[in-house]
Amino acid sequence: MASVLVVEDDQFVRSALIRHLTEAAHTVRSVGTALEALREVAHFRFDVVILDLGLPDLDGSEALKMLRGITDVPVIIATARDDESEIVRLLNDGADDYLTKPFSVEHLSARMAAVLRRSRASAGEAPPPRVIQVGGLSIDPLRRQAELDGAPLDLTRREFDLLTFLAGRPGVVVPRKELLAEVWQLSYGDDQTIDVHLSWLRRKLGETAARPRYLHTLRGVGVKLEPPGGSRSGHQQGHQR
Ligand code: CA
Repeated sequence: MASVLVVEDDQFVRSALIRHLTEAAHTVRSVGTALEALREVAHFRFDVVILDLGLPDLDGSEALKMLRGITDVPVIIATARDDESEIVRLLNDGADDYLTKPFSVEHLSARMAAVLRRSRASAGEAPPPRVIQVGGLSIDPLRRQAELDGAPLDLTRREFDLLTFLAGRPGVVVPRKELLAEVWQLSYGDDQTIDVHLSWLRRKLGETAARPRYLHTLRGVGVKLEPPGGSRSGHQQGHQR
C-alpha cells in the first residue's frame, strides 16, 4: 500500500495503470505533463513516482532532473525506448529503477515493491516483520526459523533466505534477476543456481514443480510464492507483526 503518482500522457496507459494500482490497494494520483508532476510532488507526499519519459512538455531527463531538484521520492522510469545508454544515464541522474514498455502489472508490482523496500529501509521506517505468515508457512527472519503447518523446516542458509524473500511479497512474481541480486547478491548468474535451490526448497516443503503448492515458477518470468488456494488469499495474508 503506497501513495503513487503516475505521470503519463497516454490516456489508455494511464487509466490502465490507475486501475491496476488501485486494485492493488495503492492510492493513486495522476497527471499528464512534467510541469503538473512538479506541482504534485511540491504539494503532496508520494511513496513512489512512475514517470513516463515521452511527455508532451519536457524531455524525460529534464523532468527527472527537475523532480530531483525538489524531492528525493523514489522514481521509476517508464520508457518505450529500450536504449541502454539512456537508461544508464537516467539511473545516474537519480532514477531508482526503470520499466520498458509494454510492461506487465506483475513486473510493475515487483519493481515497486523493490523500490519501496529500499526507500523504507533507508528511511529506517519499516523494520523487518517479526514473523511472516503465508498460509501454513511461518517464518521468523530474526531467529531464522521456519515452520510449515507447525512442523519446523530444516533449511540451509540460502533456502531460508530464498523462502523469506519470496514469502515477504506473497503473490508477487519476482523476476529471476531480482532473486539473484537480492538473495545471492549477484548482478548476473545462470538460472540453474535458482532452479537447483528452488527444487531443494520444494522438496522440503513437500511439493514438486509439477504439483506446486506454495512455490510457482512462471517460465521465462520469475517465481512467486502464494498460499495454496491462489493469489486472492495471498494478498490478504502476508505480514503479521
Ligand atoms: Ca508518453
